[in-house]
Order: sequence, then C-alpha cells, then structure tokens
Amino acid sequence: MKQKAVFLDRDGVINIDHGYVHTVDTFDFVPGTLEACAQLHQAGYALVVVTNQSGIARGYYDEAQFQRLSQWMCDQFAAVGAVITQVYFCPHHPSKGNAPYVGDCQCRKPQPGMLVMAAQQHQLDLSQSIMIGDKAGDMEAGQQAGVKHTLLVRSGKQVDAAGEALADAVLDNVAAAAQWILTPQ
Ligand SMILES: [Mg+2]
Repeated sequence: MKQKAVFLDRDGVINIDHGYVHTVDTFDFVPGTLEACAQLHQAGYALVVVTNQSGIARGYYDEAQFQRLSQWMCDQFAAVGAVITQVYFCPHHPSKGNAPYVGDCQCRKPQPGMLVMAAQQHQLDLSQSIMIGDKAGDMEAGQQAGVKHTLLVRSGKQVDAAGEALADAVLDNVAAAAQWILTPQ
C-alpha cells in the first residue's frame, strides 16, 4: 500500500531563510518544526524534503557541503522521532552559475520533478499527500504533482501574495500546518 507524505520545502519552512544557508552555524530551525514533524510521522506521514538549492549552481557551496548539512539536519529530526525519508534537492539554475548546473531541468520548483521522483522511489500516494512551502513555486509544484493540499507558511523571508492565493490554507509555520493537517477538515 502506498504511503501518504508531507513534502516540506526547507528554507523559510524548516529553517529560517537567511539566504543560501549551507552551514550548521547558520541553520536555525523555525520553532516547533521538529516536534510537529514527529507528530506527522507518528500519524503515518512520510516526511520528504524538497528544496531548490541554486546556491550549488551559483558556486556558493557544493553538493558535499549541502549533503553534510542535510545529514546533520536529518539527525536533529531523528533525535525527536521524526524520520526524514529522503532529502531531494535541485542544484540547478536556469541561467545563473556554472556547468554542469546551468540550464532547464525538471526538478527545480515550480516543476514537480522532485515530488514525482520521491513518489516513485518511495511508493507515495500523491493524492493523499500535502505540500508545505513558503513561496508560490512550492504551491505550484505541489499542484502539478497532484497533491491533496498545498499549505503556505508565513515563516519565510517575505509575504508571498501569489503563494497565498494558490494555497489551500495559509498558516504561521509548520507547527500550525501540522495541526491543520491532523485536524479533520
Ligand atoms: Mg522556501
């Protein structure tokens, strides 16, 4: 049987978006995120991170640095009982940066590629899944992938009116989103 999932954007959702975060020192969890994700995990949701990381294309950090930070992040989740199934990232940018990362791709949100790949690799039921993000591109990716609900959180760097218009609900942060998900609509 396929599992339902919560797809989480990273910057502005899991952690405060300081801009191209790539070190543990600058990775500040949005308060309540870890505990909320543990609740979602216990409720049967797979937790999947889907994050655009054009800082790799731009040369601000490399894939190895990104993977080291992701491992640390996943360890923090695991420590509270929130198992992250996988972190998917898009290292590309359509026009900025260095080969081999420059150009069009299927993974950079608003494209749904990361969600679709996750569904295939982990037998996820997109029609029962939720996308949580802080930008319109997150909402679009979720809708293109065919998720049940897209939720916009206001923990990002700035209010995204376009994202709010696309979302099924607008909530303060992941903790509030988790309560929304776990409360029968
Ligand atoms: Mg974001």
